[in-house]
Amino acid sequence: MRIVKTVQALHAERRNWGSSVGFVPTMGYLHEGHLSLLRQARKECQTVVASIFVNPTQFAPHEDLSRYPRDVARDLSLLETVGADVVFLPTTDEIYPSAFVTYVEPTGPLAQEAEGAFRPHHFRGVATVVLKLFQIVQPDLAYFGQKDAQQVAVITRMVADLHLWVTVRVLPTVREEDGLALSSRNTYLDPVSRHAATTLYRALQAGQRAFTTLSQDDPTAVIRAMQAVVAEEPLVQLDYLELRQPSSFLTLERLQTPALLLIAARVGAARLIDNFMVHADGTWETGRRLSELAIDP
Ligand code: AMP
Repeated sequence: MRIVKTVQALHAERRNWGSSVGFVPTMGYLHEGHLSLLRQARKECQTVVASIFVNPTQFAPHEDLSRYPRDVARDLSLLETVGADVVFLPTTDEIYPSAFVTYVEPTGPLAQEAEGAFRPHHFRGVATVVLKLFQIVQPDLAYFGQKDAQQVAVITRMVADLHLWVTVRVLPTVREEDGLALSSRNTYLDPVSRHAATTLYRALQAGQRAFTTLSQDDPTAVIRAMQAVVAEEPLVQLDYLELRQPSSFLTLERLQTPALLLIAARVGAARLIDNFMVHADGTWETGRRLSELAIDP
């Protein structure tokens, strides 16, 4: 496995790569969610590239950039075990030299509502860094997790809008056995908050039940079913509970498919997001528990 720290060195590395390049961008502190993306890339591509970069432009000044968990040594050994060929590990100055001024700005509800309403410049930072990483790595396929559903929608839209030659692959959310979605930020949870954090998953399950059993066409009834679960856990401070169209992120006025059930909440010292998706054909994407993953030794 090659560890590359500069754009120039990565460019030189590309000469040795196979005809299909798979790319998994991450902010490090890797867990099985990240590794599921890497394993799929390993199956589908000749060369697998991962990046570890905690992107400052997607954090607001009051957010957790400075305390975001980091353990590069552990990340590198995990990347070795899943068979990554190349790890791009740039410094902040490498990606954002002092003269940097050019951003990619997604607009409209997709970037400004739901997560975008709570994190106003977040998707500008995400789109900017992902485009820069795509330019640097030039992957054929890029892998993202359904856990960050709005990020998936923003990047899919950017790839279409800017005519990028990359195929976006989206893989299911990986969950703990009690349903909590794996996240590097789960490390902020003390044991009491960790227990309370399962509320997000249980709220989504209640929303799914309401969505599938409701006789009347009433999205607010689905939201109320989710709210009832959240209301029972005082340690969960809700940011939003929403029902949206998965690609445009427009709010659904009717119970139609495809749809996303979205939740974001603060639990103890962590801010967590999660979602379930129902496809156009009515099948649900609710994620995979760790025990359900087929992990080759
Ligand atoms: P991050 O390091 O949090 O920026 O995440 C890097 C990639 O891993 C993104 O595409 C995330 O959506 C994905 N990811 C994070 N957590 C999970 C999870 N629990 N299951 C699946 N993918 C995930």
